[in-house]
Amino acid sequence: MAFLFKSGDELFDEAVNHINLKEYVKARADFSKCIEKGASKSSLASIYISIIAMVQNPENPNNYKTLANNLRSVNPGMVEFGLTQVDGMRLADECDLVAQRIILMSTNGNAAVREKKGKDLIQLGLQYQIKIGKDTLKTNELIYGDTATSGIKESLSIQALGYETLASSAVLTDPKQAAEYLQNAYNYRRQAGDDGSHDKQLIESYSKSAKCWICGRTTTGEGIHFLAMSSEITPFMRNGQDDLLKSAPANFEAVYVCRPCYSAISRRSDAISRKYYDDAIRDLRATEARLQMEIAEVRAYASSMAIRMR
Ligand SMILES: [Zn+2]
Repeated sequence: MAFLFKSGDELFDEAVNHINLKEYVKARADFSKCIEKGASKSSLASIYISIIAMVQNPENPNNYKTLANNLRSVNPGMVEFGLTQVDGMRLADECDLVAQRIILMSTNGNAAVREKKGKDLIQLGLQYQIKIGKDTLKTNELIYGDTATSGIKESLSIQALGYETLASSAVLTDPKQAAEYLQNAYNYRRQAGDDGSHDKQLIESYSKSAKCWICGRTTTGEGIHFLAMSSEITPFMRNGQDDLLKSAPANFEAVYVCRPCYSAISRRSDAISRKYYDDAIRDLRATEARLQMEIAEVRAYASSMAIRMR
């Protein structure tokens, strides 16, 4: 009955067939058996298992790290996985970059954390340019079947993201600096083939100055340091003021208010609403208690009447 047991090499070939059919669970099982048998292609099988783990769970940075380590320790030359062919060492470099990207993207925090994240993303973008360049991203091809994204394009997108992150860290203290970062981000987005309209919109907002309608202070950065509050500017008020347009949008349906005035008004109105709410609830409770007492009285009267009728 020995012929029923497949050799390690046969298992390996069968697993490769499963990969071609995208049957990754079966492929992984066969590669594992191949390793258990100590077959000559065991080390290659371990690389395939790590590629499958990456394809099945592409958001886990550890899968890329494991694959990179396996590739470097085996140094397999060209690796074929389905229709994809890639040099093992080149794939290892790309895996390092993807793992770094995933880890960086998941960091978040205060302005200092975001500033570091932005700088690190820009450095990472440069590494994509240096290590992958015009070549396409093989991890994208293996995972998503995407053969169009080059290292250069990824580099531009990541650098754009880096500058956008720097802008978000700077805007609270220096909206003009944030707008400059966004101008860089916009340029990278355009080179990468994106329209960059979101960056452009933010550049316009962050560069815009206004004079607070209420306190008269001038500030820069719409949506951050000043906001438009719905209002009614009468035709009489629209005339005769030199810098009216700095205090209101062109349609006169709002006034520009600096963040301190805005937050003072909204916090005070929140407190007033809260008081009205609490008063209303207290009145409701008092009414409820009075009604309960009246109901009890009516019941007592009804039962005393019932006794008398007997
Ligand atoms: Zn103000």
